[in-house]
Amino acid sequence: MSDVPAPAAPLKLFNSLTRQLEEFQPVHTGEARVYSCGPTVYNYPHIGNMRAYVFADILGRTLSFKGYKLTHVINITDVGHLTDDADAGEDKMEKMARTEAKSIWDIAQHYTQAYWEDIKALNIRQPARWTIATEYVPQMIQFAERIADKHCYELDSGLYFDVSTVENYGRLGGIKSELAIEMRQLVRRLGDISHDGTDAFSIKMRIYEEVENFVELLVRLKNESAAKDKYQDFIDLWKSTPSPDNNEFNDKFSETLAEVKKFLESAKAEARIEEVKGKRNEEDFAIWRKTPPGEKRQMEWDSPWGKGAPGWHLECSVMSGEVLGFPFDIHTGGIDHREIHHPSEIAQNQAFCCAGGLDLPANSGARVWMHNNFLVERSGKMSKSSGEFLRLQLLIDKGYHPLAYRMMCLQAHYRSELEFSWDGLGAALTRLKRMLMAIEQLKARIPPPTGEGDHPQGGGGAPSVTHDGAPPPSAMFPLPVPGRKFTPFLERFESAVSDDLNTPVALTVFEEVLALKKVDPAEKLAALAAMDAVLGLGFLTLERAELRLRPKGVETETAEIEATLAARKAARADKDFARSDALRDELSAKGVEVMDGDPLGWEWKL
Ligand SMILES: [Zn+2]
Repeated sequence: MSDVPAPAAPLKLFNSLTRQLEEFQPVHTGEARVYSCGPTVYNYPHIGNMRAYVFADILGRTLSFKGYKLTHVINITDVGHLTDDADAGEDKMEKMARTEAKSIWDIAQHYTQAYWEDIKALNIRQPARWTIATEYVPQMIQFAERIADKHCYELDSGLYFDVSTVENYGRLGGIKSELAIEMRQLVRRLGDISHDGTDAFSIKMRIYEEVENFVELLVRLKNESAAKDKYQDFIDLWKSTPSPDNNEFNDKFSETLAEVKKFLESAKAEARIEEVKGKRNEEDFAIWRKTPPGEKRQMEWDSPWGKGAPGWHLECSVMSGEVLGFPFDIHTGGIDHREIHHPSEIAQNQAFCCAGGLDLPANSGARVWMHNNFLVERSGKMSKSSGEFLRLQLLIDKGYHPLAYRMMCLQAHYRSELEFSWDGLGAALTRLKRMLMAIEQLKARIPPPTGEGDHPQGGGGAPSVTHDGAPPPSAMFPLPVPGRKFTPFLERFESAVSDDLNTPVALTVFEEVLALKKVDPAEKLAALAAMDAVLGLGFLTLERAELRLRPKGVETETAEIEATLAARKAARADKDFARSDALRDELSAKGVEVMDGDPLGWEWKL
């Protein structure tokens, strides 16, 4: 007997464009069209990059869970992404091809494959479409032609977009743009003040106030936006500076001022946009990069502006608009795209939509822009000099199942910074093990099916989640509909994910259901299955033994370990403790830790 469905919680998502939570209103009734900026396939993805796709996956699964027909597109950038997002440097793909002495096409194929393997390992659903940038070049040229007259100008190096031709460029960038402007002004003002000399107390006071305001902005930037550790040192230094009401202020301030100047110089150097001669505005960007005369690029196409390649921003505008149609519902990406890549996409979309007579709501291309925060690694142990590159394979080599990383992502809200540590990853793995043990015990209590269609089937036979456009998960499992007892939990779960994808809360609701006693086991498994369709931890099909990964370099076979452990068990049963200890030592010498009485029933680990 099925319960009356509870009124669904409205789906609220944080829109970076308006900086507020908004109720999701699909452009097309019952549908959700989502575009996610994909990887530039010149190297293996860092696990921090993979956080963006776990986030997009949770968004997609939530939309499916809420009954929307999802069309998700992720692109693969195989041309046009420069080493500097702001139009400077060289093509990342060309550079890597040279380093590895391979063709760009080989580089693209190799790293796309590596990325897809990570997608699979993290149980991220396949999008409806992967769009490959080099397959859309004719459309990119058409798009550029349509906006060129009104919005672009040609230089020797390419066709440039004039950001002053669209309204409100960079509104997405928000505080970071504010900081850049403030930094330029502060440098100028400090210069002016310095002309007055810097010794008098009143001048120091003026400088102090200027820098104090600037540091406030830095703190806000750290909290709200692309938080950068390098700002923290400066913020700390400033906080430890004696304030003007402190006796030491006058004596110590010159020292601090030197540090302030140093910081501003380095920040300015870093923010430097390589000068392109003839650019009308600092933020203008190339939508088509011409191949320099006398050169031949591995990847180049004919265009009305000469041989060349499309700009990175143009690619995403074209692929999203082409496949999903403007306006579509949601555009996602990492927070690092919020200052340059996405504002540039929006500017092009505005230009394109206006040219096509589409009115204001369509102008940004997507109605909702969502950004996940960074993964940060503060211990410093993963610095480049240690030679360890934090990619999924490294986690696997160290014996951590990829889904432990997915769990780690889910434990934090996507808009919060996620701090990476091996301990944190270990804790996420333990949580996963604990949940799986409870699910295995639950499955064991469900009677096997006795005939066709007459009895609920255990989770072991449940199909894994299907792809886009799937019916609500409860309809897919040959499990009973969870009864009234589960309703409040499922409602709370739905509220949590509907509240801007609050996965940390959703996980705790999942665990509460897991801990419920005196309920029908098959119904309980059905409730868990419905929730896992959103969490995507693969609980119904994942076996606990699969979580046990062999760290790289460990030779001992699992069967051998199990055999030795069985012999040790027998020895203990015979009270032959000398032999039992000897067998334990033997395992220990092979790097196997025996865990007697482990509450998770794990018994041994490598
Ligand atoms: Zn993009």
